[in-house]
Amino acid sequence: PAADPAAGAAVKAADRAHVFHSWSAQGLIDPLAIAGAEGSYFWDYDGNRYLDFSSQLVNTNIGHQHPKVVAAIQEQAGKLCTLAPGFAVDVRSEAARLIAERTPGDLDKIFFTNGGAEAVENAVRMARLHTGRAKVLSAYRSYHGATAAAINLTGDPRRWPSDTASAGVVHFWGPFLYRSPFHAENEQQECERALAHLEQTIAFEGPQSVAAIILETVPGTAGIMVPPAGYLAGVREICDRYGIVFILDEVMAGFGRTGHWFAADHFGVTPDLLTFAKGVNSGYVPLGGVAISAEIAATFETRPYPGGLTYSGHPLACASAVATIHAMAEERIVENAAEIGEKVIGPGLRAIAERHPSVGEVRGLGVFWALDLVKNKETREPLVPYNASGAANAPMAEFAAACKRGGLWPFVNMNRTHVVPACTITEAEAKEGLTALDEALTAADAHAE
Ligand code: PLP
Repeated sequence: PAADPAAGAAVKAADRAHVFHSWSAQGLIDPLAIAGAEGSYFWDYDGNRYLDFSSQLVNTNIGHQHPKVVAAIQEQAGKLCTLAPGFAVDVRSEAARLIAERTPGDLDKIFFTNGGAEAVENAVRMARLHTGRAKVLSAYRSYHGATAAAINLTGDPRRWPSDTASAGVVHFWGPFLYRSPFHAENEQQECERALAHLEQTIAFEGPQSVAAIILETVPGTAGIMVPPAGYLAGVREICDRYGIVFILDEVMAGFGRTGHWFAADHFGVTPDLLTFAKGVNSGYVPLGGVAISAEIAATFETRPYPGGLTYSGHPLACASAVATIHAMAEERIVENAAEIGEKVIGPGLRAIAERHPSVGEVRGLGVFWALDLVKNKETREPLVPYNASGAANAPMAEFAAACKRGGLWPFVNMNRTHVVPACTITEAEAKEGLTALDEALTAADAHAE
């Protein structure tokens, strides 16, 4: 890409004039102006190109500017840009069919939203109305979105400023052997103790008051902890025993990221409700939704569902989902995610971990990996404290800056970096990214023993 720093400066000045950014102190941020993107890369106006190891916010599963999806959006725009949710529309029905055919079990009805948080809001509403109960249980190590119920269900510190409205939300500990809340010594113990803890939480909350348990199938932002064998099946069994709705949040893990269409496919578990967004159309047009079981759909067969959105099933968004799903199937994109993870990224990260004192654990699958950075491999003390900011966060900030200098755009959260490139990433690109990551980790090593 040709450099044009003056154009970049103008884009940034215009941003600073009127754009109010998410999660930020507006006076303390310095957003990078972006000139373009294609496939696994994006570039700025100064001639710097970045290999996107974050997939933006873990959403561009087919990479940037996939030509078939761009064409489908253009074609749909020429035909019909928008139509209210109450009408039957060809692309909406087709998107719903393609999604329902891929979701596990009998999740065959699709309620469309504009993104993940709205999907979570509506799944929780459905669960509460279906059961007539109020409480919802979620994991401390979780992120479910930034709207009212979704942010309260979220376990990470972004919940804290909005905790005042958290009526009916109860948090519990999910399994995570590397930092076991249960002092477990192996995955099987971790699984058994996590299930016993969940069961006890329900007993003390009152099973008759619990509407739903919501879990990310593989927790994403909170650290990519693949659950031990038997955990999700155990949660399913507990839900069945107490008449609790089981919601799997696949907003980040779904649509190819783990090397299957849905992460639930790895575990043979079918939830009652499944939330999705991001990878459904790689975020080319905002879209999310809830896949609904036959039993819950039946609750709203003769009784109206009290929820809706002006843009539910938006034709441009649905057209992009149809094109995305076809492209993913035709180009073996889900298979690519599985293969690159197993053959290149997983082994590459494990080799990196051996070379670097700051890498405590490597975990993940598909194109969904985390490096847990530590001060000391023995004690597992995190490289920066939980929710560190400012000077306390310097080791991670230095690591991120080193990645960017090396042409790699990293995903960084607390003491972790996540390797979450597009599902379309090639072997050569993955290796290029691993080399840059290997070099950048020297900056983290400087803070480790
Ligand atoms: N659920 C999960 C698991 C997520 O990772 C996210 C976003 O990162 C959300 C929900 C919220 O999605 P959105 O930002 O589209 O509202």
